Amino acid sequence: LTKFILYSEWLIYSTWWVGDNLSSLMQSVGASEKVFQLMDLLPRSKLQRLVGHVEFVNVSFHYPTRPTVSVLQNVSLLVKPNEVVAIVGLSGSGKSTLVNLLLRLYEPTNGQILIDGFPLQDLDVMWWRERIGFVGQEPKLFRMDISSNIRYGCTRDITQEDVEWAAKQAYAHDFILSLPNGYHTLVDDDLLSGGQKQRIAIARAILRDPTVLILDEATSALDAESEHNVKGALRAVRSDKTTRRTVIIIAHRLSTIQAADRIVVMDAGRIVETGSHRELLVDGGLYARLTRRQADAVA
Ligand code: ATP
Repeated sequence: LTKFILYSEWLIYSTWWVGDNLSSLMQSVGASEKVFQLMDLLPRSKLQRLVGHVEFVNVSFHYPTRPTVSVLQNVSLLVKPNEVVAIVGLSGSGKSTLVNLLLRLYEPTNGQILIDGFPLQDLDVMWWRERIGFVGQEPKLFRMDISSNIRYGCTRDITQEDVEWAAKQAYAHDFILSLPNGYHTLVDDDLLSGGQKQRIAIARAILRDPTVLILDEATSALDAESEHNVKGALRAVRSDKTTRRTVIIIAHRLSTIQAADRIVVMDAGRIVETGSHRELLVDGGLYARLTRRQADAVA
């Protein structure tokens, strides 16, 4: 995207000046050279093979628009290849911000993120994004049929069998079959609920077979469907032993992530607890309190 913006800027800049006199044209040539020099400065490193080791090392962060508000403070977290880590915490504790940094929408203010031991900031951003799967709270579906929505963005040859395999992994197959034209049903605005959209997006992500899968559970669909979303993603990693995948889930519904290998609890921009569901319950800290509160709310 940066490349595209820089190139567009160069194009507009050059075209603007071509209509002017020769000395101005010479200036524009100078400017374009500078732009290309700038483009060369963008990190382009690619790892030969991505294993899926994700590490936050002492990461602190504030959003550029709010420099006085520290959103993450000295966050250190190691996610091992093939591990399923759930991130939980109250609203505003910094969970989505962690993911924003991992997607490289922002750079940490302090500290760094290492991917297989390599600084994320030095990796080619497009290369990195092609290798991770991200399913956000409100995934974008397109006005095409369900099957094409699942195939969307996949560069390798995909059969209908592959599409259905991914949909089954994401717990989407059954509801797709119940639609008027099954996989050929056209997606329009009112066709699917938030939870169903997320399951289609999970199927799309799984089909691309990403080494790192990041899932931000939809807050808008805190219902039984949402529970299926996360459980489906967990099952997708576990059911197929040949697939090695690191999974990071931001969960709002604690009952969905009990089977995660590790649960990371955030509070006001810090990691305050880490452990399995059982360990955290025994510890009797914030996680145990949040679990009790959600159980009471359901009862
Ligand atoms: P939720 O569970 O509600 O999604 P969260 O734990 O994911 O919350 P974040 O979305 O990471 O929390 O927000 C952490 C803090 O950063 C909040 O105070 C929020 O207001 C602030 N924040 C989030 N996004 C931005 C932004 N783009 N610009 C400025 N501040 C932001």
